[in-house]
Amino acid sequence: MSLSTKNKRVKSDSQALLKPIAFAFFFLYLLLSLSHFFLLSEDFKWTLISLSSLTMIVSFVLMRKAGNISADRQSFWILILLAFGTINSVLHLWLSQLPEQTTNIFLVIIASGIVFSNRAHWAFLIVLNWLGWIVVNLAVDMPMMMHFFFALFMGTMLSWFAHLARRTLVSKQAELLQERDIAVAHEQEAIAANEAKSAFLANMSHEIRTPMNGIIGMIEIISRTNLNDDQKQFIATAKRSADSLLFVINDILDFSKIEAGELRLENVEFEITHFMRDLVQEQKVLADSKGLKLDLVTNNTKQLNVVGDPYRMKQVFNNLLSNAVKFTDRGGVTIKYDVVSIDDTLRFSTEIHDTGIGICDSAIPSLFDSFSQADTSTTRKFGGTGLGLAITKQLCELMGGDIAIESTLGKGSIFKFTIPFKPADQTEPGDSDEHPEALQPVMNLSVLLVEDNDINQEVMLAILENMGVNVGVANDGLEAIDILEASDSTHYDLIFMDCQMPNLDGYETTRRIRAGHTGEALRQIPIVALTANAMDSEKQKCFDAGMNDYLTKPVDIESLKNTLALYQRN
Ligand code: ADP
Repeated sequence: MSLSTKNKRVKSDSQALLKPIAFAFFFLYLLLSLSHFFLLSEDFKWTLISLSSLTMIVSFVLMRKAGNISADRQSFWILILLAFGTINSVLHLWLSQLPEQTTNIFLVIIASGIVFSNRAHWAFLIVLNWLGWIVVNLAVDMPMMMHFFFALFMGTMLSWFAHLARRTLVSKQAELLQERDIAVAHEQEAIAANEAKSAFLANMSHEIRTPMNGIIGMIEIISRTNLNDDQKQFIATAKRSADSLLFVINDILDFSKIEAGELRLENVEFEITHFMRDLVQEQKVLADSKGLKLDLVTNNTKQLNVVGDPYRMKQVFNNLLSNAVKFTDRGGVTIKYDVVSIDDTLRFSTEIHDTGIGICDSAIPSLFDSFSQADTSTTRKFGGTGLGLAITKQLCELMGGDIAIESTLGKGSIFKFTIPFKPADQTEPGDSDEHPEALQPVMNLSVLLVEDNDINQEVMLAILENMGVNVGVANDGLEAIDILEASDSTHYDLIFMDCQMPNLDGYETTRRIRAGHTGEALRQIPIVALTANAMDSEKQKCFDAGMNDYLTKPVDIESLKNTLALYQRN
């Protein structure tokens, strides 16, 4: 802290002291006014009563107004009050000619040391009191004045020490305030840096997802052509690599979404036993490929419909199970789960046991931190970003649950997590995982694809045409509006709309269609956003512009089929 700031702070002492001092003065001078009335001699009684009443009134006013007076001004008013106190004491001594009245002056001197950290204020009052006392001594001849001189001198010394202590206290307070300001500024900088990091990650994953759409789409198209066995294997490897790259990008995106408070949970109905069976089926392929056993153990046999986010719950399981399989070479993985009813919630708890490499005790506390791995050789041997467990923990907590780990190095690990669910309405059993209509072949549908990127156009054209869909293409929003204006209003059943395009972007194009620029009949045409930006805020932006649905690139074939099925002509 710079010296000038420190001094400035020290000068503006007595924060919030005015009110209690004014309060004490008010009562003191109220009592003094009364006692003067009964105890003082008639000669000077009314002079001292008037002065003490005036002091009482000034104290009362300051007591009431203290809250509106700035810290700097408060110091000044305390000085005035103590000056009033000095005048009362000196006048009392003078008029009464009783040396013991010096004790009042003594009290004001001590009080000045306790209250003032400002050197000038303290010195002013000390000088004022001493001057008053000396003047009275010169004017009146009183006994025992030498005795009181030493008492006043000692009082002044004590006052000096109190003043030094108060000064140190106030400057320490000022330093603490300064440090608090710095900490607050640092916190704000950290928040801003974190937001910038999240925005950067979101932006990067957008930039990566766009070309990934081309890669995955093209791999999908090639895999449907006539290939010899070697080519099929090459394509399968390319697909695996592209999928794992997408996995990493999705992890980074999820992480930045959680950090930015952007991750919204779904509330849909699903059935627990069915969910767990499907989950094990999916993971079995991976476990089998390493020769590991994958067992599901539960006492829970009856069907349980709950409301929650099965997609995120699956993500938690996938992260934990893929780690369990990844870090286990012998033995197997066991999933135990149970559901208990507590009040009006169903508490789902599970344990994932593996017989793998285990984790050393020192690595466990930071295991759920982002980008953390048990040891650096893990990255070299197994790969991974160190984001999986951080996301898993945050997802569990977002769903209202918690996660814990027990592990023994060389023996294996147990990851345990619990999630509370609301029971679903039993009269309407649902299963969000099933979309029977989605699997039906899509035909008899005409779609306008609005997309500026050549590769993405090519990918979408190939996929859609492969499904038997009729596709028209517009290179940007303006072209889309021209095409829609020129065509018969019943020609297109659906529009796939890219969001970021030159000339006219997807949001504005949608707004114009909804406003009737392409004719009344097309105002309600279904529009599905097709974007590489997977943040929830982007989704909302699409809905706000008037779009009906939302697909992210790289396009997932199943989601695309589901969407097409929704808008298929009967
Ligand atoms: P990643 O696996 O992508 O590196 P995670 O956050 O999923 O990131 O895991 C962080 C680290 O925790 C891993 O690198 C590994 O060291 C350790 N780990 C996680 N699960 C297990 C497990 N089942 N057995 C042993 N180590 C594990």
